Amino acid sequence: MAETLGSMKRSHYCGEIRETDIDSGAVLMGWAQRRRDLGGVIFIDLRDRTGLAQIVIDAKYVDEEDFIKAERIRSEYVIAVEGVIEKRDPETVNPLLETGTVELRARKLKILAEAKTPPFAIEEKSGVREELRLKHRYLDLRRPDLLQNLKLRQQMTQAVRDFLIREQFLEVETPVLTKSTPEGARDYLVPSRVFKGSFYALPQSPQIYKQLLMVGGVDRYFQVARCFRDEDLRADRQPEFTQVDLEMSFVDEEDVQALLEALFADIFQNVLGQHIPLPMRRMTWQEAMDKYGVDKPDLRFGMEIVELTDIAASCSFEVFRKVAQSGGVVRAINAKGYGDLTRTEIEFLTEKAVSYGGKGMAWIAIRENGELYSVLTKYFKEAELVEMIQRLGGEPGDFIIFSADQLEAARTILGNLRLDLADLKHLRKKDAFAFVLVTDFPLLEWDLEAGRYVAMHHPFTMPKEEDMLLLEKEPLKVRAKAYDVVLNGVELGSGSIRIHQRELQKRMFKLLGFSETSAQERFGFMLDAFQYGAPPHGGFAFGLDRLMMLATGADSIRDVIAFPKMRDGSCAMSQSPSRVSRSQLKELDLLSGLKDYVHVEPEKPVVSEADVDYVAALARLELNDEEKEELTRNLRDIIAFADKLNELDVTGLDPMAHVMPIENVFRPDLLMPSDDRERILKVAPAQKDGCYFVPKAVE
Ligand code: ASP
Repeated sequence: MAETLGSMKRSHYCGEIRETDIDSGAVLMGWAQRRRDLGGVIFIDLRDRTGLAQIVIDAKYVDEEDFIKAERIRSEYVIAVEGVIEKRDPETVNPLLETGTVELRARKLKILAEAKTPPFAIEEKSGVREELRLKHRYLDLRRPDLLQNLKLRQQMTQAVRDFLIREQFLEVETPVLTKSTPEGARDYLVPSRVFKGSFYALPQSPQIYKQLLMVGGVDRYFQVARCFRDEDLRADRQPEFTQVDLEMSFVDEEDVQALLEALFADIFQNVLGQHIPLPMRRMTWQEAMDKYGVDKPDLRFGMEIVELTDIAASCSFEVFRKVAQSGGVVRAINAKGYGDLTRTEIEFLTEKAVSYGGKGMAWIAIRENGELYSVLTKYFKEAELVEMIQRLGGEPGDFIIFSADQLEAARTILGNLRLDLADLKHLRKKDAFAFVLVTDFPLLEWDLEAGRYVAMHHPFTMPKEEDMLLLEKEPLKVRAKAYDVVLNGVELGSGSIRIHQRELQKRMFKLLGFSETSAQERFGFMLDAFQYGAPPHGGFAFGLDRLMMLATGADSIRDVIAFPKMRDGSCAMSQSPSRVSRSQLKELDLLSGLKDYVHVEPEKPVVSEADVDYVAALARLELNDEEKEELTRNLRDIIAFADKLNELDVTGLDPMAHVMPIENVFRPDLLMPSDDRERILKVAPAQKDGCYFVPKAVE
């Protein structure tokens, strides 16, 4: 039986007892990590969120009842121990623990809660299946490494708050039940009970609200905001996540960027003890795409992409020449010092190149003696090779990888191979932090599927003044006042200077394919606000979870979130999302009410071929294809009809038909002679060669 605390009060955390506490009385409480029974003396490693303390329960010092209790203690029992802190015997000293030279000699003991054997051991870096850990996250959280992540997260949030508050930012909360904010993902919707058929959207970000705060004169806003995006998940994505969101008035790009540099440098220094040299490197989107193939370059290592199209256009190698002459590009990276890549490594990279859409991987290894080793060399004139290698800065011991393809494909292939090579050679060190500010993003991109322009950042982003004239003429050429902060090849966050003029914002909506009515319907309140004097403003938001992932070197974003969702967006522990009761759906008018609101095509019940065969077999029918089709249709109608009946609200309705009361009828058992075989066979529908064909029923 579990006991109550009674008058016991905890005096120390387990991980905090030290030699200076020797001889003082102490009360520790926590979970039993391990129990060793030496007969007459029991040792327990007691754990709380600060660490472990060794408890000694000696039959000589506790009364019998408590000693018997101690014998019952198993892993994860919650106990309270009162005793005296003593120095450990030299042979039991544990140099790995901060409390390793002391122990608590028990005088009194309480079992506060018993525990079932946990489904996995509570220890650091346990190799347990993640699903099991997430199902019992409350046990998983007892692991010191996970707890450590939570502590660091709190320090990080605190450092961000301290910095921004020092910089005169005001922390403001914005609504979670709101209207859709277009950040490019699907919305999570919440049905309104009061306004039947209407929905709130959970915020993909507080974007519109923070802009309205600027209209409201708040001047500098920040929030540690929860955002919700219904997207396919990856290792660094969660359906709900935390952003540090900020916005400033009367600023241009450089002002926001300067603040961001200072913010990141400050939190890295204060939380991680990492010095980030300022100013951060800045790079335009164009440069990032050309040199690294991506808009989030990993700058922990070199191997930039080099343009060779001009040389290739007149070279003797037909494959390169044709690509270069037909609008494609020929580009390459020089993997400095990796001229000795093994055959297996080259094969690995070639497979990767193919998986990124390449037809193979063209490469040249420059041997230490300067000799070029490749199947390509024979296709080139020596001078062409020399020119290309010179441009690539190629030297003996280097390895060169080419891509000849359409621009997008070449970027993807080389950009990714660059990362694969770095992984292969362990160049992406987790303790190195390479920041870069990527600027001048294109304002728009063409969405093939939707057949319209979409905003690369979001629809509220200000175009560069010098590109404004191109807005309607050559929209894809317009650059935006938008910037990303990238760390180690990961986009930490994005921001931009916003449009603050109503007319320009309307122009933008039009460009994005919103009709005047739909722009008014979705963003009318924002456009209205802009009529009343909106200051120039801009801001930024970065993912706290993602930053934590990089700061802790965690492999998954789930390791830095207390209760994360699994890859499919579900919660293994609470089993959400889950079905709700019919009455809840009814209350929200989601059962039938919606039919009046939107046009809902009734779903056709699914009837499979197997279902049809089954029903036919039951009815002992052999059907041809036409009859099967007919039966399929009939079955669908029957199921649809049954579904409709099911949907009827019959509460409080009197039954319209009654079942006759059953009365048993007793009949005496009479012995009857069995049927005469001859008589039956005589009426058989057909006879042949002494065989009778009888109906199946008789069979
Ligand atoms: N709302 C943007 C985002 O979530 C950030 C910003 O523009 O401030 O990416």
